[in-house]
Amino acid sequence: MAVPKRKTSPSRRGMRRSHQALTPQAHAECANCGELKRPHHVCAHCGHYDSREVVEAGKSLKGAVRI
Ligand SMILES: [Zn+2]
Repeated sequence: MAVPKRKTSPSRRGMRRSHQALTPQAHAECANCGELKRPHHVCAHCGHYDSREVVEAGKSLKGAVRI
C-alpha cells in the first residue's frame, strides 16, 4: 500500500481545500405564488411553470418535483 512520506502541512491542506468552497444556490421568485424556486424548474410549491400549472398541486407534487 502506498503511504505518504510526509504529513500534509496546514498550508498544503489549505491549498487543496481552496477549491472546495460551496457556491450559493440560484433562486428566483415564482410568478404565481411568490415562493422561491430554482430557475428554469417547476415550482415545488404550486406546480407552475411559465405561468401555467404543469403539475397538479397537492400531496403528489412532492414526488413529482425535485427541489
Ligand atoms: Zn409557485
